[in-house]
Amino acid sequence: MGRPILKVMITITTIKDMRDYSAEVRRNGKTIGFVPTMGYLHEGHLGLVRESVLTSFRTVASIFVNPAQFGPNEDLDKYPRNTEKDKELLEGVKADVLFFPSVREMYPEGYSTYVTVEGALTDTLCGALRPGHFRGVATVVLKLLNIVDPDRAFFGQKDAQQAIVIKRMAKDLDLRADIRVMPIIRDEDGLAMSSRNVYLSPIERAKATVIYKSLSAAVDLVKKGERSVREIKLAMSAMLEAEGVRTDYIAAVGADDLRPVEKIKGRTLIAVAAWVGSTRLIDNVIVER
Ligand code: AMP
Repeated sequence: MGRPILKVMITITTIKDMRDYSAEVRRNGKTIGFVPTMGYLHEGHLGLVRESVLTSFRTVASIFVNPAQFGPNEDLDKYPRNTEKDKELLEGVKADVLFFPSVREMYPEGYSTYVTVEGALTDTLCGALRPGHFRGVATVVLKLLNIVDPDRAFFGQKDAQQAIVIKRMAKDLDLRADIRVMPIIRDEDGLAMSSRNVYLSPIERAKATVIYKSLSAAVDLVKKGERSVREIKLAMSAMLEAEGVRTDYIAAVGADDLRPVEKIKGRTLIAVAAWVGSTRLIDNVIVER
C-alpha cells in the first residue's frame, strides 16, 4: 500500500468564501499568487502553479471554463474536464486553494458588464478570427482578479496574445496584481502542451508536431540571417501544408505591440494558429535581432 496523500488543498466554490479567504491571508500580511485555468491540467499549468508556490505564501488556482470567451460554434460543450484528477495534480504541486465557481456564480442572471481591450492588441491574430474572445477573457480575468485579489497572477506565453491583452488591461485599469508570463512548456517532441491536445487522434498527434517544427525552422532561418517575413512565412507554410495542416494564420508581429512587421527587427513574435483535423492549436516563438 502506498502512503496516503496528505490532503491539504481546499476547494472554494463561492465568491464570498474566496474573498474571505484572501482577506484573511492579506490581513496577516502574507502574499497570494494566482493561476487562472480552464482545467484539464497539464505540465504547462502546473509550471505556473509551481512558480506561484515558490514566490507566494499562498497559491490559489482556479478552474473555470468561461462561456464568455467561446464563440457560438466553438468547443465550449465538449471542452475536456476532469476535476478530480485536476485536484490531485494541484495537491501534488502544493496549491493551497482551488477556486472552482459555477457559471451561475460568475455570471448570475442579469449579468451585463464586459471589458474590452481595444485596438491593435485585440483586432489581430486570434482576435481577428475569434470575435469577442478577448472580451470574454478580459472580463473573466478581471472578475477573478477582483475576487481572489492576488499580489501576482501567472499566465503562459503559450497564449501570447492573451498575456499581452491582460498586461494591458492590468496597466490601464490600475490593477494591483503583478502579471507574470512564464515560458511555454512542451512535450518531448516539441508540441506545446494544451488541454485541447486530447482531441487529437494518434495520427493527428504526430502531424501536430509540424507546428513547432515550422516555428523552429523560422528560428533557424533568422539565425542564418533571413530578415524577410515573407520568406519565413513561405518556408513555414510549405512545411505545414506538406502535413495537411491548415492555418488560420502565420504571423510575425512586434512582440510587445503585436503590429505586423515585414522585416525581422527587434523582438518579434512569430505565431501560428493551425487546424489539425478539427482541432485548432496555437503556438509561438520570439525571435530577436
Ligand atoms: P487554459 O487552461 O488553457 O486557459 O490555460 C491556463 C493558463 O495556462 C494560461 O495562462 C495559459 O497560457 C497557460 N498555459 C497553457 N498551456 C501552457 C503551456 N504549454 N505552457 C505554458 N503555459 C501554458
